[in-house]
Amino acid sequence: MNSSKLRVLFVAAESYPLVKTGGLGDVCYALPNALRQLDVDVRLLLPGYSAVIERLSLVEVHDSINIYPLLEPIRLLVGIMPGEITPVYVVDCPSLYQRDGGPYQDITGKDWEDNAVRFGVLSKIAALFGEHKFLFKPQIIHCNDWQTAITPALLAFSSQAHAKTIMSVHNMAYQGIFGPETVEQIGLPPESFNMFGLEFYGKVSFLKAGIYYANQITTVSPNYAKDIQTETYGCGLDILLTERQQQLTGILNGIDLDVWNPDTDIHLNRNYNIRNLSAKVRNTQVLRTKLNLENSKQMPLIGMITRLTEQKGMDLVIPIIPLLIKAGVQIAILGSGDKTLENHLQRLAAIYPKKMSVTIGYDEELSHQIEAGTNIFLMPSKFEPCGLNQMYSMSYGTIPIVRRTGGLADTVIDATPENIKNKLATGFVFERTNSNELLYCLQQAVKMFHNKAVWNQLQITGMTRDFSWQKSAKQYISLYHHSINTI
Ligand code: ADP
Repeated sequence: MNSSKLRVLFVAAESYPLVKTGGLGDVCYALPNALRQLDVDVRLLLPGYSAVIERLSLVEVHDSINIYPLLEPIRLLVGIMPGEITPVYVVDCPSLYQRDGGPYQDITGKDWEDNAVRFGVLSKIAALFGEHKFLFKPQIIHCNDWQTAITPALLAFSSQAHAKTIMSVHNMAYQGIFGPETVEQIGLPPESFNMFGLEFYGKVSFLKAGIYYANQITTVSPNYAKDIQTETYGCGLDILLTERQQQLTGILNGIDLDVWNPDTDIHLNRNYNIRNLSAKVRNTQVLRTKLNLENSKQMPLIGMITRLTEQKGMDLVIPIIPLLIKAGVQIAILGSGDKTLENHLQRLAAIYPKKMSVTIGYDEELSHQIEAGTNIFLMPSKFEPCGLNQMYSMSYGTIPIVRRTGGLADTVIDATPENIKNKLATGFVFERTNSNELLYCLQQAVKMFHNKAVWNQLQITGMTRDFSWQKSAKQYISLYHHSINTI
């Protein structure tokens, strides 16, 4: 092992291209890559879902780790991420991870009942790395979201902890809340079940454990780091976060330009960049044909790619869809999640054939084609820790309309007259969670769509912004060094 390199174990419940349900998967692929390029010896730790076991070529590192009395012995395997060089350790425990369904839920959308144990085990294996029980001896355990958040607590109570912990919060709204019996199940001492610990209104909160015990906390945009210290966005942990604000840093996510770049994107009919932006139109035509939408250059095509949850603000969009269609726009939505929202959208699409397309499901290829083929991209989120799609949109010359919250506020520069004049504007920003305000903002955008010179300038400004991971990865490296050097 090259001891001069910084050694980091990056622990997550998902990582593109093996398993992804949202932005977490993108980040847990791109950030380790960016860190490797900056000479950090970063390695991933993932649960051994079927998709992970089948896609990787794995060898055994450890054949039987006994964690909990009633659980089968666990194997630790290692392989290399597809198409690159990041080593990935895999927790092989078929009874916990190899199931039909998603990483967190069964096929009906219900949370797996044993999620506390499934992710308690992931956290425990990460803690064993932190105790230097394996050949790879990380100086930092970088935990991501609630599924990994027990690791800092386990290490805080361990007499053999050799690594510092970073807890990255990608979304405060998901905390991993379980019954009090979980404390014993996951091997924590009873004294941890305390207001000054992981207890949260009589239950166990995995995320609170991470926030309480980690050496450093990060979240995915500077603005969201402020937001979560308020009652509105703190999901009950705002006071704890305020108390720990000296250890809380907002580091903006980047985007992976190997995967999300209109000039090289393998999913597009025609690649393009700022020098041949007119080629974007071809992607719009192909998308319209694919989605069975009327072919018309006059109508702006609005896109949305989203998990259908309360967070994403679809309830603001649905009431104004008839007005938008009447005003001469087309809409292409790709998403899945809440069944009521899915049904509602599908009913609307049936009323407006040729004008509105709704694809329910998860479709990586279509998501790239929507980013490239639409003119406007809509993200009216109620809260948004960072958001990736607005950054993908800007780099694809697709103008985002966003609500001023979290990372959306950090990344999109509103098309005010002054920002347009100074060639800074990249999109449209509205303030309140209100359909009328969204409608007004959309109307302004549609008006500007017909002013080709200004529209083109918005596109070019967005496409030339630097959303790469380089800068953020450097901030993480500073934080790693700071943690190592702090007692
Ligand atoms: P979140 O993590 O809250 O879902 P982000 O904007 O940070 O939101 O990231 C969402 C990621 O998931 C993007 O890469 C987006 O393209 C992708 N995504 C979301 N829903 C779908 C879907 N139905 N099909 C394909 N990709 C999707």
